[in-house]
Amino acid sequence: MYQQIWQNCLQFIKKNVNEQSFKTWFIPIVPLNLKDQVLTVQVPSQFFYEWLEDNYVHLFKQALTKELGPNARLEYSMIVDKGNENNQPLSVNISANTASKHNGNSIRDFNPFSLRGIGTNDQSSNLNNQYVFDNFIEGDCNRLARSAGYAVAKKPGITSFNPLMLYGGVGLGKTHLVQAIGNAIKENHPGKFVLYVSSEKFINQFIDALKGNNVQEFSNYYLNVDVLIIDDVQFFKNKEKTQEIFFHIFNHLHQSGKQIIMTSDCPPIELHGLQERLVSRFKWGLTADLQHPDFETRIAIIARKLQADGIEIPEEVVEYVAYSVDTNIRELEGVLISLVAHASLMRTEINLELAKQILKNLVRDIDSEVGIDYIQKTISDYFRVPTEDLKAKTRKKEIVIARQVAMYFAKDYTNHSLKSIGYHFGGRDHSTVIHAVQSVNDMIDTNANFRYKIDELKKRMKMRVLV
Ligand code: ADP
Ligand code: MG
Repeated sequence: MYQQIWQNCLQFIKKNVNEQSFKTWFIPIVPLNLKDQVLTVQVPSQFFYEWLEDNYVHLFKQALTKELGPNARLEYSMIVDKGNENNQPLSVNISANTASKHNGNSIRDFNPFSLRGIGTNDQSSNLNNQYVFDNFIEGDCNRLARSAGYAVAKKPGITSFNPLMLYGGVGLGKTHLVQAIGNAIKENHPGKFVLYVSSEKFINQFIDALKGNNVQEFSNYYLNVDVLIIDDVQFFKNKEKTQEIFFHIFNHLHQSGKQIIMTSDCPPIELHGLQERLVSRFKWGLTADLQHPDFETRIAIIARKLQADGIEIPEEVVEYVAYSVDTNIRELEGVLISLVAHASLMRTEINLELAKQILKNLVRDIDSEVGIDYIQKTISDYFRVPTEDLKAKTRKKEIVIARQVAMYFAKDYTNHSLKSIGYHFGGRDHSTVIHAVQSVNDMIDTNANFRYKIDELKKRMKMRVLV
């Protein structure tokens, strides 16, 4: 009787899924029992169970309702130990949560050894809905990465940005951006199975699958994804087996026009310890970097964060923080949080005094320790010219000006002799330095726009964060 009912359910299911899925996920199910409109079926593993629950719960519900009426329920019996001649297979019963609202592509931690998490409707896709494009501030530092991400979010798998590889140092927004892409895809294409996974998690899932003899299911699972987002692939370094399976998954998804998005803390060519064939595939699509945010972007990010939290702080404090914290955005957020926390604990308002106090440990005054390196870097950032050009022979106008300004600051802010300064600028002699300082002084006197720039740079030179 229950066999027949199950056969009928299968017929119905078969019409509603593709052949591959039907073979993979439904043929292995064994009907066990029917009692009080509860059909019990056996599934090979917890992973299997979770997959069914996450992807086919509606289909089951429909099939069962058709056969058994509105009170129909499905119960899973899962083999957790395959047994041997002496021992029967060990199985566990779980009630399916068929009534719960499911969004069709949710995913749980893949852990064949534990029953934790079952029955709770986990966050789908592992996406954090706080990370969206709307609150990802655009700046020169991230323009290419952001717009590529935006294009991918509109047409996943269809643009030539496949794979999309984003790289950059810590706290520069990689995770935020790829999560934003994932969230946007889910919104634009509700049918797509988007999956965000950190590399560590992928590695751990894979190790568990190896231990539990579930590698096939592990890869089936990933092969079903429409948009795969893998964060921090540098952790794949020297993990040969993981790289192999990832290579396999990557190829399969790529060939089927599925979108792959990855992040790394360095550019692909510096991913030593990753197989060459993998790295070369990473370069198939688009590689874009996230750079350190410039001053304007930092101001915009601070303003946006404060606005989101409904906090008002004086303009000069915003600027002070933006000047002081130029390492990364996570650090910037950290400073803002402690600023707001201090103010509310001490019941004072947020003012420059407080900001200075809080940043005291992070910021040092330029007079004591600034070096020529720092000056060159600051100037090259500001004028958007490569640091090397400051030391090179180039006579291009914008580079000459940047170089002269850097020399001017080196003279004013360090204890280096004119000779030593010349030496640090590509072995120029001291008269060149004197000439540079003179030119800058002249321009300050005659050009208001230039004067403004120098003032800005002075502020910028005054503080820097120790990391
Ligand atoms: P990464 O993954 O590169 O280490 P995250 O994505 O975790 O960096 O970013 C660190 C923090 O900075 C997060 O809280 C993120 O929201 C914020 N952040 C990064 N880039 C931006 C941006 N362009 N606009 C707004 N917030 C940002
Ligand atoms: Mg990250």
